[in-house]
Amino acid sequence: MQIGGTELTVERGDITKSTTDAIVNAANCTLLGGGGVDGAIHRAAGMKLYLYCAKLGGCKTGEAKITPGFNLPAKYIIHTPGPVWNAKREEECDALLHNSYFNSLRLAEENDCQSIAFPSISTGIYRFPLDRAAEIVAKTFAEYFQANPGSVIKRATMVCFDDKTYAAYERAFAALEARETE
Ligand code: ADP
Repeated sequence: MQIGGTELTVERGDITKSTTDAIVNAANCTLLGGGGVDGAIHRAAGMKLYLYCAKLGGCKTGEAKITPGFNLPAKYIIHTPGPVWNAKREEECDALLHNSYFNSLRLAEENDCQSIAFPSISTGIYRFPLDRAAEIVAKTFAEYFQANPGSVIKRATMVCFDDKTYAAYERAFAALEARETE
């Protein structure tokens, strides 16, 4: 679907192979690598990424920091720690997940990225409920690109590693499109 001048898409695949200007990493607060997509990105980008990240002094949940892509096809990696799901603090978790996407988009914009690929932040090891996350992502993209119709970002893609994740983002983006065309 299209919002302003930006195409929003959902794909299945491995984000380390994405050829977008920027890919986003579902990092942890140390920025030194971990499991899941974070481990895959660090392995594919190489040791130089680790050495670069070691100088960044970590990152708070919901904030974002940018590095070169090193051995990846992507020019940049935007690292953002999403929230660890806590059912006793649902609203705080929702706000932090929103911040991770919003701040990543802002940083991509500041660095002139025309395309950006996101993994499904927080829905793996961090256990954020998938459909709830997908809805927050759709809303955050709508909010960001409606406010920035002249964004330099021409394509924002969710790169989903499995069928269940792909289906959840497809549903959330279809619901957004239906709302947009009402
Ligand atoms: P978090 O700790 O933020 O929950 P995870 O890496 O555990 O992050 O999971 C986030 C999502 O990333 C999950 O849907 C997982 O299946 C997915 N994932 C894992 N490896 C890759 C990859 N190479 N490309 C894209 N998505 C991936």
